[in-house]
Amino acid sequence: MEKQIILTGDRPTGNLHIGHYVGSLKKRVELQNSGNFQQFVMIADLQALTDNANNPEKIRSSILEVFLDYIAAGLEIDKTRFFLQSQIPALFELPMYYSNLVTLARLERNPTIKTEIKMRGFNRSVPVGFVTYPISQAADITAFKAKFVPVGEDQLPMIEQAREIVHSFNSTYGEVLVSPEAILPDNKSCHRIVGIDGNAKMSKSLNNCIFLKDDPETLRKKVMSMFTDPNHIRVEDPGETENNPVFIYLDAFSTPAHFEKFLPEYKNLEELKAHYQRGGLGDVKVKKFLANVMEDTLAPMRARRAEFEDKKDYLLEILARDSAYAREITNQTLQEVRAAIGLNYFSNNKL
Ligand code: ATP
Ligand code: MG
Repeated sequence: MEKQIILTGDRPTGNLHIGHYVGSLKKRVELQNSGNFQQFVMIADLQALTDNANNPEKIRSSILEVFLDYIAAGLEIDKTRFFLQSQIPALFELPMYYSNLVTLARLERNPTIKTEIKMRGFNRSVPVGFVTYPISQAADITAFKAKFVPVGEDQLPMIEQAREIVHSFNSTYGEVLVSPEAILPDNKSCHRIVGIDGNAKMSKSLNNCIFLKDDPETLRKKVMSMFTDPNHIRVEDPGETENNPVFIYLDAFSTPAHFEKFLPEYKNLEELKAHYQRGGLGDVKVKKFLANVMEDTLAPMRARRAEFEDKKDYLLEILARDSAYAREITNQTLQEVRAAIGLNYFSNNKL
């Protein structure tokens, strides 16, 4: 049996952060290493242009950075295919067909798009390409006939939109497309990682990130400056762990082994949380522990990144090679789509 297909991507708008890691990259690495799937990872340079049309240089300069972040996270050149969205014509032809199956009202209801429009202060001046990016994303996924898409929670409305397009296309033109499913992180705290400023989402566009490539000093400074429970003023005050970014990150990253190594007076996170909640545990101590946990997590990533940092020509070759392969795969889907709609005028003489 052919392997099921996985497709995901990231916008090259800057370096990848720990939200990307626990929200999606970690799962991609697991799926890659299971050997049970064929995995494609897309650097979404066209999607990045939808809100950066006048700054293409930012996108150009982020492409290999994102590739290095992938390698840092544990994705491997021999096990996963890496390609550039702009090099795959099917990905911009399919949206032309799919656009006719989606209403404006439906696009405007997308909660993630709504939040993103607000965050960017676009109002009605939102670029059309930005509001329609869920359609383009549906093309990215379906062009590969991908079954699984490992993403963070903010992407669920996009997968839903893609499923609706598949349903509409297949019932209008015949069964061609595969309906995709999102794979969320196993750990609920990782579905949407908050920013170090306490903002609801760590995001490249919000300047509230811990980047996978942050050096030890920057990392430590960021952790020590993190937002915590604003009512936990004196050490003896009871504190909240629920909406506290420091504890959310500990939920996402700490393991019992970290306690053994860095904070042996507590067995696990439950014990640490209980102490914070009843009072008597200071923020500085918790932050120092978190800084150690994060350093332990990011150090091997920095090492993997360093191996490829001065091999940029090689990375570019891989992108070209895998993009060519992705073109082949997606052109097949494109032919099927065109035939289903009846646009294959010259391969059937019955016009
Ligand atoms: P931008 O601000 O440019 O949109 P971003 O930080 O939102 O960048 P994307 O490239 O849009 O990053 O997202 C890539 C993937 O990472 C998606 O699967 C998304 O769900 C996931 N992701 C991004 N931010 C987080 C987060 N804070 N927590 C969990 N997952 C996240
Ligand atoms: Mg985003």
